[in-house]
Amino acid sequence: MKSHGYAAHDAKSPLVPFSFDRRDPEPGDVVVEILYSGICHSDIHQARNEWNNAIYPMVPGHEIVGRVIAVGRDVKKFKEGDLAGVGVMVDSCRVCANCKASEESYCEKGFVGTYNARDYKGELMHGGYANNIVCHERYVHTISPKFGDKLAAVAPLLCAGITTYSPLKFWKAGPGKKVGVIGLGGLGHMGLKFAHAMGAHTVQFTTSAKKIDDAKKLGADEVVISSDPDAMAKHKGSFDFLLDCVSAPHNVDDYMALLKLNGTMCMVGLPEQPPSISPFSLITNRRSLAGSMIGGMPETQQMLDWCAEKGIVSEIELTSIDKVNEAYERVVKSDVKYRFVIDMKTLKA
Ligand code: NAP
Ligand code: ZN
Ligand code: ZN
Repeated sequence: MKSHGYAAHDAKSPLVPFSFDRRDPEPGDVVVEILYSGICHSDIHQARNEWNNAIYPMVPGHEIVGRVIAVGRDVKKFKEGDLAGVGVMVDSCRVCANCKASEESYCEKGFVGTYNARDYKGELMHGGYANNIVCHERYVHTISPKFGDKLAAVAPLLCAGITTYSPLKFWKAGPGKKVGVIGLGGLGHMGLKFAHAMGAHTVQFTTSAKKIDDAKKLGADEVVISSDPDAMAKHKGSFDFLLDCVSAPHNVDDYMALLKLNGTMCMVGLPEQPPSISPFSLITNRRSLAGSMIGGMPETQQMLDWCAEKGIVSEIELTSIDKVNEAYERVVKSDVKYRFVIDMKTLKA
């Protein structure tokens, strides 16, 4: 199947228009015409080979919302014309213990990423900065009509949404819990909205003083400028849970010190350099440092449906595909409120 989009060809050059082939749809596949594609910081890390795993050419994008334009004969969940979403995975082994437990993001064989990945037959996968995508229906989500005309702002739920929802649920953010979200970016602002909507006392940590008012509007009970030692000290030993959404190297011990007895800090951010941590940060208050990767398929659907009910979507800046390189520069400078989404209508054949 013919497709076109924008691709990175090496770590240093800008993304440029690119034509490529996708597999012809198989009986269980859905073909989605892409309407909106979010820009995740993981797209930038990978396009620039910051995780040392880049396969070029690379069409990034794993926050995809579109419309079904064809379905294979075995497809049950979708028909032509339905809205659909694709996130970070397009396949997994489907038979390991974790896949059977609907924890596909922890597939023992390794899930197949939406881009910068090969499927189990060895074919290179390309992501959402493109006109279409082919994907088995198990890895395609239904998008509720309740989202109305906010479809562009739904796209970031497919990665930023589920990546923050899953750990907040796992560590039981809710009434009576004090939860901190570190970094007010694409992931962070969804973590903030979710922790607030789940009923936790939510504190936003940011390095950007200019984001204080926004953080409060998005649901923060308190906002802390992380470079202010006095403001940080006030929260020492008080948090049940911290969600670290920072994309760049930062001091993990400073945040660990804020956890109370048995508190957990979960890292979802993936900076280029691994963090260092003092063992004293862990033994004090019997603290845990944990991690979490995206979320399983049913949990992603549950998150999408919950957002549709609650009217929760991402705060976005809609952009055009020809401005994708500019958008990357602005994301790296934390200069976006709070997620870029590409209007794929702007992609010309
Ligand atoms: P983003 O929109 O760029 O947000 C990152 C935020 O980190 C910024 O808004 C900024 O918040 C803070 N920050 C940036 N540079 C900083 C620095 N030098 N020191 C301290 N704070 C800094 O990125 P994103 O799309 O939310 O992604 C965040 C990270 O999560 C990325 O590393 C991404 O690869 C990773 N990720 C992981 C998963 C997973 O499954 N675990 C899934 C998706 C993404 P303030 O201005 O508020 O300080
Ligand atoms: Zn992502
Ligand atoms: Zn598996």
